[in-house]
Amino acid sequence: MSSQAPHPTLLIPGPIEFDDAVLNSMSHYSESHVSAPFVSLFGETLTMLRKLFQTEDPASQPFIISGSGTLGWDQVAANLAEPGDDVLVLHTGYFADSFADCFETYGVRATQLKAAIGDRPQQDEVEKALKEKKYKLITITHTDTSTGVLSEIEGVAKLVRRVSPETLIVVDGVCSIGCEDLQFDNWGVDCAITASQKAIGCPAGLSIVMASGRAIQSFKNRKTPPATYFASWKNWMPVMQNYEAKKPSYFATPSPQLIHALHTALTQLLSRPLSERFQIHKDNSQKVKKAITDMGLKQLASKPENQANGMTTIYLPEGLTPPEILPTLMKKGVIFAGGLHKEIAAKYLRFGHMGVSVMDPKRDDMDRALKALKEALAEVKKS
Ligand SMILES: *Cc1c(COP(=O)(O)O)cnc(C)c1O
Repeated sequence: MSSQAPHPTLLIPGPIEFDDAVLNSMSHYSESHVSAPFVSLFGETLTMLRKLFQTEDPASQPFIISGSGTLGWDQVAANLAEPGDDVLVLHTGYFADSFADCFETYGVRATQLKAAIGDRPQQDEVEKALKEKKYKLITITHTDTSTGVLSEIEGVAKLVRRVSPETLIVVDGVCSIGCEDLQFDNWGVDCAITASQKAIGCPAGLSIVMASGRAIQSFKNRKTPPATYFASWKNWMPVMQNYEAKKPSYFATPSPQLIHALHTALTQLLSRPLSERFQIHKDNSQKVKKAITDMGLKQLASKPENQANGMTTIYLPEGLTPPEILPTLMKKGVIFAGGLHKEIAAKYLRFGHMGVSVMDPKRDDMDRALKALKEALAEVKKS
């Protein structure tokens, strides 16, 4: 039995359902953020992130900073690009528009390479764009949470290294790290960002970033200082390095309770091979996508190779809008999200299937959610 109060199951693409142990670990007495036990816990958490991102290169640098996933964009835009630099943003949905907007805020020129809704830019288009201009960095959204489109990181990274070797490869993995394979070292990723509340299954409030040795070197070679105070790696890098060496350090106060939760979530996540975790997400995703298709429903991400494994975007039957079905689903005990892609937001639902909802064999979230969806569709159609 869960120690949590009864509640409808949260099946949106983040925040996701919490494991009891993750939640309970936040109920920890207050500690000093520079005490030996807390510094040690923070240091272990940073070291576990290296495993989560699949990096063994000692030059890779993890960061955990209070904030949400969005703070990862600020870290990239302020630390890895300089005003006047050009960056290439691969667009697979809403989150690329926002990342581009973030770059512009720092005076960085963002060029977006867009695909049709539900698709992703093709390799020959990326190659053409890279040959037209010199880009400081390229960003790829691993899973775009507005469309459920999965990007193919390995192939794009290889292409970038071949065509424009100096361009840094940045992955927005906010909705993918912890449920999709991301091989930071093997694929040559330079910076990957995520947040605590999506596939990692921890409460919201932490921006989690991994930077490669190459990215850190590029940061050190900047001609201008980062135009940010709180998100500056100049301020955070010594703190992260000290914590990992179990030495107290201070720039701004971290949230000990959230670090406890993240430590617990990562300990659970890394207690089995990552490949198993990715496979379980894939199997559940296949099951959901098949059931959706059997109900006669279509997905935004229409090509199987483009489909994320941690979520599914579902077109509603013609004329039905999210506010007309979400309350019925809620009464049946599940919460889905409405659309987010601005051009078609009123036409689709988003169903998140990440973390304990698929990993915990004691839970039946997928079966209940699919049953609720089928019943709700039948009910709203009749009325
Ligand atoms: C959720 C999300 C973000 C933003 O994260 P917040 O924690 O809401 O700030 C960025 N990128 C992607 C792909 C996301 O799914």
